[in-house]
Amino acid sequence: VVSSTAASNSSRATWRFVALLWLVLAAGLLLAGCDSGQAEDSASTSPEPVDSDVRVFLIGVDGATWRIMDPMIERGELPNIASMIERGARADLQTMRPTLSPIIWTSIATSKFAGEHGIRNFWRKREASEGPADGAEQAMLDMLESIGYINQSEQEEEGQKTLYKSTDWKAKPFWDVFTERGLKSVILGWWVTYPVQPLDGVMVSDRYLFNRFELEAEASGTDYIDSGRHVHPPELEPDLRRLVVKAEEIGPSRLERFVRGPVEIDDEMVLHDPIDELRITLAKDESYHRMALDLLERDEPDFFTVYYEGVDIASHYFWKYLFPEEWNEAYPDFPVDPDERERYADAITEYYRLVDEYIGELMRFADDRTMVILMSDHGFVTGRRDEDSGLAHYTVSGVHSGSAPDGVLVVSGFGAERGVRLERATVLDIAPTLLAVHGLPVARDMEGRVLLSALDRKAFSYPLPVSFVDTFDPAPKDDP
Ligand SMILES: [Zn+2]
Repeated sequence: VVSSTAASNSSRATWRFVALLWLVLAAGLLLAGCDSGQAEDSASTSPEPVDSDVRVFLIGVDGATWRIMDPMIERGELPNIASMIERGARADLQTMRPTLSPIIWTSIATSKFAGEHGIRNFWRKREASEGPADGAEQAMLDMLESIGYINQSEQEEEGQKTLYKSTDWKAKPFWDVFTERGLKSVILGWWVTYPVQPLDGVMVSDRYLFNRFELEAEASGTDYIDSGRHVHPPELEPDLRRLVVKAEEIGPSRLERFVRGPVEIDDEMVLHDPIDELRITLAKDESYHRMALDLLERDEPDFFTVYYEGVDIASHYFWKYLFPEEWNEAYPDFPVDPDERERYADAITEYYRLVDEYIGELMRFADDRTMVILMSDHGFVTGRRDEDSGLAHYTVSGVHSGSAPDGVLVVSGFGAERGVRLERATVLDIAPTLLAVHGLPVARDMEGRVLLSALDRKAFSYPLPVSFVDTFDPAPKDDP
C-alpha cells in the first residue's frame, strides 16, 4: 500500500466532487434530452469488435498554451492551428498536480489519477525483485550519475533508481481497448511506453530516441536502440531507424530560425544548456515527425497519435526572453540581459510555428471521416528552478510544476462541433471522449467524462457514448 499525501488527497477529493457534480448534471441532461436508448449498460461479455469508420488524429504538444498561441493566430503565424479552430471546438484544458509529464500523459491515456494508474514521477526505486538493469537501462543510469542527476550517496541510501516503465501502469490505456475491439492504432512517443506492449498497430516508445534523460546510451555505444523493446512490431525498427535525426546533426543552420545571430556548438551535449536542449528536442521531434509521415503513408490507422516535446523544452529555457517584464518584476536581482533577449526573443514562437508546420503535414492524411485533436498537458508560467537544480537554476525561466497552468484543447474536423468554446475540459476527459467517438463504451471508473459539447452528435451513426462498463481494468480496486 502506498500512502498519498494530504495535498493529493484533498485535490483528489476536489476532483471527485467536481466529477460527481458533472455526473449529476449529465444525468439531468440525459433525462431532459430526447435521445432514447442512450447510456444503456452493455452486457459484460467478451468485447465485440466495433464497427466504426471514424478516424482520429491526436496531436500532443507538451506545454502549449493559449497565451502564446492566440496572439500568434491573430498575426496569422499559425495557419494550420487556426484552420483547426475554425472547424472545431476549443477549450482551456485543465491539468493536475504535480504537473509532471509522465504522470499527466498517463492520466490522459487512462482517465485515472496517479494513485490509480501507478505512474507517480519520472523516477522510482528499483525493487530487488526486478533483477539487474538491462544493458540499455544501466547505460542510462550510469550517464545520469555522471551528469549528477543521481548521486552516489542517494543510490546507496535509497537504493538504485529507475525510470517508471510501461509495466508499472496499473490502469489500461485507451489504445488497449482499441486493440481489444479490433481498432488499429499508431502511438508515437507517448510518455512511459517503454518497453512497448503489443497492440494492434504500431508503437514507438518515448525512450527510443535521444532523450534528455538518456543523453547517454548512444553516446556510450550501447545497443539500447536494438533492445527490441522500443518498437512494436520489432521488425519495423530498422525502417524507422533510418528516419532518426540525431542531436549532433542539428547544426547552426537548423538553429538559425530560433536564435538571432551566429550559434556556436561543440560536440559535448550539456543538460540544461538552452542551445543543447533545443538541439536534443529538435532532433527528437523531427524524428518522430518523420516516422509519423512514413507510417501514415503506409497505412490508415483508426487512431493515430504523435507527441511533440519541443514547445515544453523551448518554454522552459527561453520563457524570460518572451516575457522579460514579467521576469524582471519577479526577479529584480536577476534582470534579463538585453543582448540575450534580442538573441532569443523568437525561440519559443518559432517552435510553435514549427509545430504548426508539422500539423499541416499531418493534415494531408486526414480525410472527411477524420477527427483531429490538438492538445497539451499543461501551460507555462514565469518561474525559476530550485537552487539545488544545478545549471537549471540559472537557465530555466518558465515552469509549470507548482502552479498547474491550463493547457490547450482543439477538437476539429469530422464529428466536431464548430465555433464552440468549452467551459470545462480536463486532461482526464480525453480517454473517455476518444472511446465514445470510436463507438466504444466508457468505463464508469474513469475520472473524466465524454466532452459531449465538443461533439456534433448528428455526425455519428451511434449514440455518444454508446454504453458504459464498470471498468476496463482486470481487477477493480477497493476504493478507500
Ligand atoms: Zn516541462
